[in-house]
Amino acid sequence: MSPTKQDLSYEERIQLAVKWIQNSQHLVVFTGAGISTESGIPDYRGPDGVWTRRDKGLPPLKMKMTMDQVQPNSGHEAIVELQNRGLLKFLISQNVDGLHLRSGISSEIIAELHGNRHLMRCLTCDRQHPKDYLWDSTKWGNGYRTSPIRDNQPGCPACGGRLISSVVNFGDPMPQKEMDLAQHHSMAADVLIVIGSSLAVMPAASFPLIAKENGSKLIIINHQETMYDSEADLCFHESAGATLQAILSAINE
Ligand SMILES: [Zn+2]
Repeated sequence: MSPTKQDLSYEERIQLAVKWIQNSQHLVVFTGAGISTESGIPDYRGPDGVWTRRDKGLPPLKMKMTMDQVQPNSGHEAIVELQNRGLLKFLISQNVDGLHLRSGISSEIIAELHGNRHLMRCLTCDRQHPKDYLWDSTKWGNGYRTSPIRDNQPGCPACGGRLISSVVNFGDPMPQKEMDLAQHHSMAADVLIVIGSSLAVMPAASFPLIAKENGSKLIIINHQETMYDSEADLCFHESAGATLQAILSAINE
């Protein structure tokens, strides 16, 4: 472990992160479920995560709201602010909650590796379309890749091809365009910040390591320790929202 991770105070780590981010040429952010826990969506491996509870024989915690009522939090907003200041070059997300796009991230600079619950994908032309206006789940179901095709279910408005949920379920192939973009930007990164991921789900979790192997600084912000803390240049086991807001206000100064 490098001395920076053991010896520096929270304030000193914030200052170092700010310096790297301000001097970066190609800042990439990588997010997992941990960024959305502050919006009320349970993560997987946190203290009350879905899998942590499953391992103890407990059911998932009941959400206090429906997925449609969930709002972006200060962590999502901080990433938008990095985009708006021209610092963020690309965002790779493992989340399907769609909160990054809802919070104002441009669709041009994001790869949602596991899809987006609000989008359908065309199997022929690969275009994505908002689920809201063309897909009625009560009539046509979830529209997963493995779902049977139902009578009169709508096709792609652009080419008529078959629409499936963009959400990548276990066993589904990863979306090629998103994987290629994530690979390209991970290799180009000079600073990559992991936020709210235990880096346990492959192949998504390989991208921070690809960045590191190509000379990028690696910052990890996650409540729990991750598989790759020892590879990181800087670790925060503090709240994602509060840490990102502290970084942003220091960039202001
Ligand atoms: Zn199409």
